[in-house]
Formats: sequence, C-alpha cells, structure tokens
Amino acid sequence: MDSQAEALLERVGALLRTYLTSSTDREAPVVRFAGPEQLREAFRQAGVSLELDEPQAPLEVEALVRAVETTLAYSVRTQHPRFFNQNFAGADPVAVLGDWLAAALNSTVATYEAAPVFTLMEKAVVARLARVAGLSPAEGVLNPGGSMSNLSALHLARHRALPEALREGMHAGPRLVAFTSEQSHFSLERAMALTGMGRESLVKVPCDESGRMRPDALEEAVRQARDQGARPFFVNATAGTTVLGAFDPLPELAEVARTHGMWLHVDGCHGASVLFSERHRHLMRGVEAAASLVWNPHKMLGITQQCSVLLVRHPGMLRECFSTRAAYLFQQDKHHVEEDLGEQSFLCARRADSVKLWLTWKLRGDAGFAHRLEHALELAAYTAERVRQDERFRLAFPPSFSHVCFWWVPPELRPLEDWSAPEVHARLHQLSVAIKDRMQREGTMMIGYQPLAGRPNFFRLLFINPAVTRDDVDTTLELMDRYGSELA
Ligand SMILES: *Cc1c(COP(=O)(O)O)cnc(C)c1O
Repeated sequence: MDSQAEALLERVGALLRTYLTSSTDREAPVVRFAGPEQLREAFRQAGVSLELDEPQAPLEVEALVRAVETTLAYSVRTQHPRFFNQNFAGADPVAVLGDWLAAALNSTVATYEAAPVFTLMEKAVVARLARVAGLSPAEGVLNPGGSMSNLSALHLARHRALPEALREGMHAGPRLVAFTSEQSHFSLERAMALTGMGRESLVKVPCDESGRMRPDALEEAVRQARDQGARPFFVNATAGTTVLGAFDPLPELAEVARTHGMWLHVDGCHGASVLFSERHRHLMRGVEAAASLVWNPHKMLGITQQCSVLLVRHPGMLRECFSTRAAYLFQQDKHHVEEDLGEQSFLCARRADSVKLWLTWKLRGDAGFAHRLEHALELAAYTAERVRQDERFRLAFPPSFSHVCFWWVPPELRPLEDWSAPEVHARLHQLSVAIKDRMQREGTMMIGYQPLAGRPNFFRLLFINPAVTRDDVDTTLELMDRYGSELA
C-alpha cells in the first residue's frame, strides 16, 4: 500500500470506528437537513468541492479526511433509534465488518477459482435459509436486491411456462399473464416490462381491509384472463407488504396457483425473516408450497445493503435459464467448474454478499436473529396499543407485523371517527407532510408517510433496529404531538 493510502486508512479507519461505536447515540441528530446547495457549500467550507474539477488535481490526505468528516456529518444516521423511514435500520456492525472483509479481498463470486471461500459461504447460506423456509431441496443465489431477485424469479417462471422464449423471445407464444396484489412491490411491474411480457400483463388483484391479497379475487382475475384468451402463469404472493406489513394468505393462494398450473412466487423481502422466530413464524405458513422465495437479509436481519437471496425449488433451473458457458470465464475443463455460481445469475461481477450474512449469523446464532425479530414485533405491538388508547392519534389500518400506520389528529377532530369527509381528508393529508418537514428540519427523527387505499397521508412506524426501546417510541409520539400542536 502506498503511504498516502496508508495514512488515509489510519485516519478514516479511526473516524469510522468512532462512528460505529456511537452510531446509536440518541443525542446525535438523525439527519442534519440540507438542500443540495447547502451540501455543496458545506463541502466547499471543508476545502473540497463536491464536483470533480477539470482537471481534478490530486488532493492531500487531510482534504480527504475533511471530505469524509463532512460526509459523516450530513448523511442520515440510519442506525439512530429514531430512524424509521424505510424498511432497513440498525445494521449489525458485524455485517459492516463483513462488507469490509469482502471489499478488502475484492473478488467476484462468479467462479470458484477466483472466490473459493466466498463460493462455499454463499452455498452454505443458501442451503440453510432454504431449510429454515422448509424449501429443501432448493438451490439459490444472492442478488443485489429484492428487485433483481423478483426479476430472476419471473424469468424462471416464464421459462417453465414458455421454454422457447429463452431463445426466441416473446413473439411465438400466447399472451402470458401474471398476478400480484395491488399493494405489492413495484419491482414486479418493472420485471414484467424487462422480460418483454409488458406491464399490462401484470394483473393487480384487490386486497382485503388489512392489505392481504383476496384469494377469491385472484380466482376471478385468473378466470377473466382465461376468458380473454391469455395464459395465467405466475402468482406473486407478498409476505410483509411494503406499507402495511401484510402477509398474503399463502395456503389459499397456493391452492389457486396449483389448480391453474401457475408458478407461486413468494416475495418475502421484508417478512421472510420472521421464519427465525418460533413464536411468529406461523405468518409464513404455506411457504413450503412456493416454487420460489425471495428473502432480503438486508431488511429485518440487519445485514448491510445489499443482501438478497433467491431460493428456487427446481434444482438446475437457474443454470438452465442463465448459463451461457462463456468460454473465457467458465472453462469446462478447469478445476471445480461445477462449483461456479456465476452461471446461476444474470450478473457477471457479483459482490460477495454472503460474507456479511455468514459472519453475522455465526456470531449471533439463530437465537440472535430470533431475538431481533421478537424485539421488533414486541415494540410494534406496544406502539399499536399506545396509539389505540390515545385520541391524539388514530390507526389508519389494523396493525400488522412490524408496521404501525396512523395519523396524528389535530385537537378539533378528536376523537377521529371518519377520515373520509373531504375537509378531514385534506387536513390529515397536509398535516403529515408538515409534521415530516418539522422532524427533518429539527433532525429529531425520520418516519415515512404515504397515502394508500383512499386514505390520506399517514405515518408508518416500522420496527427493525434492535436499539429501539419503548422510551424511544414514547419520545417519538410526543415529538410528533409537539410538532402537530405547533402547526395546528
Ligand atoms: C424491499 C422490498 C422489495 C425490493 O427489494 P430491494 O432489495 O429494495 O430491491 C421487494 N418487495 C418487497 C415486499 C420489499 O419489501
């Protein structure tokens, strides 16, 4: 290593160590809110412009250290116990180290010859996750994110329905139609476009009042598609929807899929981790019937991003769909070519995402993952109960899994009975935006809001980070009430 890089390693290593050991510090702001111009200015103040100059002169180590400090100061602290904005939070520091280990070794998990240990770690992780899900025999592969895993699953399902498409594209066959709930993740729509089947061939099936796909509505949608001469081939069931945390009824959907010869895919990006909890794994009942399952350890398990696993119940099919036998990478006469994972994925270069999961799992054990899940669900139950008993708030939907969705209610609307009257609707809709603005400016917390199913913008508190306590929930609700009251 050259002396400059070594000096940087010393300095930045120390900064990151301090950051990580104090990352759940409640006194630090969750975010130091700044628009793009303020951010550029902050970097200028630190003596490093955010833009790359023309020509870009090589800078001193000190300037780079200041750039890293500025980056740390203005980035969102996603480890903070009041960061609830997305469905990741509170990365396990062991996973951070795993990322570092993988980066330091900088290989690509395409071939055994270039990544022997990572290849075996990935296989170990896939095999054990498949057993936890009850999906053996299964094979699988890690992908950069659930969107890529969903796309891959759709590709496999289409291959089963229309094998010619792999070589000839979509011209020859019938119109293939896929089904997913109206509250499922947007990646399915993108995947339909990318695989050439088209967004309009994805039917959005209605949900019940808790956000679960209705099996009777699926049955009806399949019948309609058949009547129109299309061929139903794929059902995506969501285990833990993005907004409400709802679990589609897997046994019933599996039955409809079986009756009509469709591939059942379970998008468990968010919810599949509940399989680690003996107490709550019943939510995933029926997953054994899935042809494929996507599971994102980078969500509820606190593995650093990205870490997504696609499990498939048809051994050999990933290879069948992705293998190209590129003679310059997968030489058939070299050592251990049968171990190469690169033929099971769309990607060429592939990060060693299994390493961080493997290390974290080994240190925390199954019990560590179970504890993470149970802690999160216990806090969600506590929050739902608090919100229910306090007329300053009102649940927008029945609470489900790790999610609690609610409004702050202004004094003149308490107790809130009917959110749907136009003036009430408009007021609640706008108040969520205004309260979010306050929390961002003050940097005290981050919580996402959104409208859904006709409801005006509501807040979604979802629990993932093991550092969050009941006190943090109380503080969060009181802060929300303070901002709301000041605005109202
Ligand atoms: C997060 C999520 C995805 C997308 O996963 P990425 O890793 O963000 O691409 C898909 N489906 C569900 C249900 C999710 O929660």
